[in-house]
Amino acid sequence: MPTLFERILARETPADFVYEDEHVFAIRDITPVAPVHILIIPKAPISGVAAVPESGDHQHLLNAARLIAEAEGLTDGYRLVINQGEAAGQTVPHLHVHLLGGRPLTWPPG
Ligand code: AMP
Repeated sequence: MPTLFERILARETPADFVYEDEHVFAIRDITPVAPVHILIIPKAPISGVAAVPESGDHQHLLNAARLIAEAEGLTDGYRLVINQGEAAGQTVPHLHVHLLGGRPLTWPPG
């Protein structure tokens, strides 16, 4: 059963793409919690951080995050969030990084 993000990658479910390369793609979150709220997603259907292989090319998510943040003009700063597991609020079982910016971001988060 493909995940929501696999269906979006296959263009079976519509989404607002902002970035795509060989390894990752990025879409605007459908329920944004900040003026900029983008999901950066590996094309490989890894279910979450807990399933990331110990070795491999994992820099692609961060490289994409930096490029997208620059393209979005987030010069003051931004936050990257990965929710792992239900208790942390993960709702889609396909690894993804939330890129948040465009407003002051308090710390610690709730
Ligand atoms: P998480 O709760 O960390 O698993 O993040 C999943 C995110 O996917 C949530 O922020 C949702 O708002 C977002 N989302 C759910 N469906 C869609 C969709 N069709 N297009 C874009 N974002 C979505």
